[in-house]
Amino acid sequence: MRYVSTRDSSGQPGKQFCDILLEGLAPDGGLYLPEAYPQVDAATLEEWRRLLAEQGYAALAHRVISLFVDDIPDDDLRGICERAYAPRKFLDPAIVPVSQLSDGLWLAHLSNGPSAAFKDMAMQLLGELFSYELDRRGATLTILGATSGDTGSAAEYALMGRPNISVFMLSPKGRMTPFQQAQMYSIDDPGITNIVVDGVFDDCQDLVKQINADAAFKQRYGIGAVNSINWARLVAQVVYYVAAWLQVSPDGAPVSFVVPSGNFGNIAAGHVARQMGLPIDRLVVATNENNVLDEFFRTGVYRVRTAAETHETSSPSMDISKASNFERFVADLLERDGDRIAWLFGRDIPEEGRIDLSDEPAFREQAERFGFVSASSSHAQRLEQIRRTYADDGVLIDPHTADAVAVARALHVPGSVIALETALPIKFAGTIREALGAVEVPRPAVFDGIEDRPRRTMSVANDPEAVKRVIEQKLD
Ligand SMILES: *Cc1c(COP(=O)(O)O)cnc(C)c1O
Repeated sequence: MRYVSTRDSSGQPGKQFCDILLEGLAPDGGLYLPEAYPQVDAATLEEWRRLLAEQGYAALAHRVISLFVDDIPDDDLRGICERAYAPRKFLDPAIVPVSQLSDGLWLAHLSNGPSAAFKDMAMQLLGELFSYELDRRGATLTILGATSGDTGSAAEYALMGRPNISVFMLSPKGRMTPFQQAQMYSIDDPGITNIVVDGVFDDCQDLVKQINADAAFKQRYGIGAVNSINWARLVAQVVYYVAAWLQVSPDGAPVSFVVPSGNFGNIAAGHVARQMGLPIDRLVVATNENNVLDEFFRTGVYRVRTAAETHETSSPSMDISKASNFERFVADLLERDGDRIAWLFGRDIPEEGRIDLSDEPAFREQAERFGFVSASSSHAQRLEQIRRTYADDGVLIDPHTADAVAVARALHVPGSVIALETALPIKFAGTIREALGAVEVPRPAVFDGIEDRPRRTMSVANDPEAVKRVIEQKLD
């Protein structure tokens, strides 16, 4: 399996998995995709069904991921998957269990990992892969990232205690929920530095970009990223689409997925699974008030929002102005026309802030070919779904999951439908109480008392030089 950039049309042979693992973004600014998606047939799916039932999620992960990786010996890859998806690290030994609500809608529970959000599913694998490959190369890595909440804690829980990795995570002062702050800031690990920036999330992201633009600094400290454009994160996520499908479709019939979306990372993995031949009917993109993606799938026009146009919502992990993984889907839509993608994403987006595919025959046929459908929810609709699901089933869902549930119920998608649960309600207890009043939000025992633990943070001004000094002091 070889990988090429979405913007490459040279026809040159692609790169191997472990090279793009550490590289992240391609040098031409594009995103990596496999030259062709591996294909699975019904017999393979039945074999995977037995494997999941008899040996569990890690064994399934190994089998699926091995289709994408040919530069790690098979036994090593098995060990990587077993460590990433060790049942003891998850709140449920099934890792991704499913459950059904009384109206027939399924939930696939992706937030049983160490930070209680679906990003653990990918980050746990990434942590193991990074460690493995850095050991093999005798190299070290410095992760510099920005978070509005879930990415930071998922990355830190996955990367802590790894001697060849240092993490510097920028977060906006006072913007995350109290639980999210406690989760990140209470981590006590020499490799993890939480930098609290006097600014908002966009400022944090700009600081990361500015520091990465200093090539000498980047080179000197071996700075890399763990953001959702990393191909390995998508591969990890393909596994839970398979696992959920196996559990919901005993007879092999197609099912639909509804995915609360921001950066298009989660649903891009669903797209990959569908392209591999997993029987998926619809892939439903659910957005909140930040509806860049919903607008695209309805109109064919993708218009990046300015910071001022980006709403702060009750599903903050979906508050994005542009969807960083979206280029991958457009590359498939335009049949991997690298020159055209380079033009659209390297010129039109930066210069005009938009691309328009509304006249493109491929766009008009996309729902049939790729199965995408979309809709968005409002704050009031999410609260309403939190109330309804609690009243009907006694089940508490977080506001991101509520977005998917709202869209699933509004669209009346036929057949079996799975809404992806992306966070535990305890992370967003304020919104749960806004919906339901003084209800007890369940708190898994591993998170008992985290708000009372000592906090370890550094505060810095919104200034790249100040952040660089923190990194220098720590690593020199
Ligand atoms: C990150 C996140 C999302 C959005 O996922 P994307 O891959 O960015 O589309 C949704 N819900 C939660 C809880 C998240 O943390």
